[in-house]
Amino acid sequence: MRKKISLILPVLNEQHNVSIVYNAIKEVFYTLPEYDYEIIFIDDGSTDATLDLLKELASQHPEVIYISFSRNFGKDNALYAGFSNCTGQAAITMDADMQHTPGLITKLIEQWEAGYEVVYYYRKGSNIHASALSKFFSKTFYYLVNALATVKLENGVSDFRIIDRKVVNVLKTMNEDTLFYRGLIKWVGFKQLGLAYVPSERENGKSRYRTKALFSFAINNVISLSVKPLSIAIYLGFFFSFLSVLYVPYAIYSKLNGVAQSGWASVILTIAFFGGLNLMILGIVGLYLGKTFMQSKQRPPFIISESNINN
Ligand code: UDP
Ligand code: MG
Repeated sequence: MRKKISLILPVLNEQHNVSIVYNAIKEVFYTLPEYDYEIIFIDDGSTDATLDLLKELASQHPEVIYISFSRNFGKDNALYAGFSNCTGQAAITMDADMQHTPGLITKLIEQWEAGYEVVYYYRKGSNIHASALSKFFSKTFYYLVNALATVKLENGVSDFRIIDRKVVNVLKTMNEDTLFYRGLIKWVGFKQLGLAYVPSERENGKSRYRTKALFSFAINNVISLSVKPLSIAIYLGFFFSFLSVLYVPYAIYSKLNGVAQSGWASVILTIAFFGGLNLMILGIVGLYLGKTFMQSKQRPPFIISESNINN
């Protein structure tokens, strides 16, 4: 039986890249004639000509599938739509801006054939295309996630990967409020392999993930991967209770010696410190409560406005 590979590409305002990446993928599969393939573009609420271009591409090439969202749902939700609709024995997820060089697809398929169920690329060395500030945030992000989460992420792990049908079927069942596949795919287990790569420069347009957004991204993703931040409250609680016990002998001593009024500065500092600490812990608890609230609504992770599937 011929094997089929599904390529899943989320696109947001990529009108200048769609046909470039399509042609590049097609070229790669010229050299892999033993495989069938489908290219699933998920239009994540583009406001430029991306959707029109996808429709045109799909009308000319039967292997092109497009799914257009009713608005922007984010890249991971777009990937979820791809997993839910792909039909291949393996799925490859990649960016549409040519940063995930299509030529590297061959190596993914080779390792998948060798028996790995997930093969992903991670950025080798430092990211030469990123600014110093976003490099700093990226480092902090992986540090935070690894310190607080239950799965270890390699620094610079990307969304360029191949996933076996077995794993795709598992991912399809995981409908979480904050999808974060880079962590989730590590979490599901299976036989995984990481390959180093150097990302290319974005072909056209600008990156959507601004440094400003990266920080809230980091917090969100720590929260979606683990409940460890909640235990911070317990550790801090124990630590400060212990400290305050040490304070008792001094309080008694000052009382007995009639110098009890001298403590104004320490009282103010203590109030300010514990006020801040309380708010911080309350905030952490609130974040989890919010997640539970959103999850309890059971809203769909994406809404499709149009597609060429089933017609
Ligand atoms: N993308 C998307 N939805 C979004 C943001 C990005 O589908 O809300 C797509 C985008 O079109 C591209 C890929 O995800 O194909 C990676 O986005 P980008 O290049 O902006 O991110 P970066 O390379 O900086 O991580
Ligand atoms: Mg990019």
